[in-house]
Amino acid sequence: MAKRVTLIPGDGVGPEIVEACRRVIEAAGVSIDWDVQEAGAGVMEKYGTPLPTHVLDSIRANGVALKGPITTPVGSGFRSINVALRQELDLYVNLRPARSMEGVRSPYRDIDLVVVRENTEDLYAGIERKVDEDTAESVKLITRRASERICRFAFEYARREGRRKVTAVHKANILKFTDGLFLETARAVAAEYPDIEFEDRIVDNMAMQLVQKPHIYDVLVMPNLYGDIISDLCAGLVGGLGVAPSANIGDEIQVFEPVHGSAPKYTGMNKVNPTAQILSGVLMLRHIGEAEAAERIYRAVAEVIREGKRVTYDLGGDAGTSEMADAIIERL
Ligand code: NAD
Repeated sequence: MAKRVTLIPGDGVGPEIVEACRRVIEAAGVSIDWDVQEAGAGVMEKYGTPLPTHVLDSIRANGVALKGPITTPVGSGFRSINVALRQELDLYVNLRPARSMEGVRSPYRDIDLVVVRENTEDLYAGIERKVDEDTAESVKLITRRASERICRFAFEYARREGRRKVTAVHKANILKFTDGLFLETARAVAAEYPDIEFEDRIVDNMAMQLVQKPHIYDVLVMPNLYGDIISDLCAGLVGGLGVAPSANIGDEIQVFEPVHGSAPKYTGMNKVNPTAQILSGVLMLRHIGEAEAAERIYRAVAEVIREGKRVTYDLGGDAGTSEMADAIIERL
């Protein structure tokens, strides 16, 4: 029986790249029963919210969603719809692989890094206020529970994927209580995985080392804000947002989406790169037991990019979103 997956086209460039991704997955011969759910700016008027309850219910029921980017409309009552969705479904891991592809413009080659970002707390807990006209404050919330489950995920992932090392990233020299707790927890979890090498790095030093010698790193685990910044740095090492996929992972539910946003200025122009969305689809296929199709799609994308003829503007070509998808489908 075909696996049922929630499909959220999103808004902005979302519907164009999600359609490209869906065509590629179907061309690979994978049969999926898509449960299409609308969310984002377009449904605000109809449901009074960009993130209707029935969309969350669909994801809960299916356990898996493939999602396009969603704009956070001004005045929606959400700091970010995407952060709200992760918190609502307790998707506590944001997994962001960064792997070099030949043909993508980048001064680096052979990068293969995985950022495991805590997705529910830290400065994204939303505890922020204006104290008076000239003062504002935010609470950096770190708990042992969230730190432990994210670190455990990183080690389990490393073991499952045959990776050699986990590096915990923090600023515990200054933030002695919050990042201190994260580091203490990471060390305790690491002790349970003697087969995986463990080390820690202070986040500023980590940023410099990722630019100078990224090849010595493997799996990186860190609290939310550092994860946001360091994963964009890693995306930059392998060619930028157009090629960066991600997975939001909870105990029961996984939501796959590109790292980039809805790029509103390109809406409806058939212009942006569908690769990040398609590679998010590849991560989803691996998760639902379609590893062979996932590998074929990955290779087809890599070949089209290596050839460099039918690629989008950000990869130096002049193909549109749908033409690049067509080229990938022909390779399949
Ligand atoms: P963005 O990622 O949408 O776009 C920034 C720029 O990056 C674009 O203008 C474009 O030049 C480039 N770009 C992005 N995706 C590309 C692609 N696939 N191919 C080629 N070039 C690409 O960031 P933004 O402008 O800061 O955010 C726009 C909206 O998206 C905001 O409302 C934000 O809240 C939302 N957003 C959503 C998500 C998500 O759905 N997970 C993530 C980030 C931002």
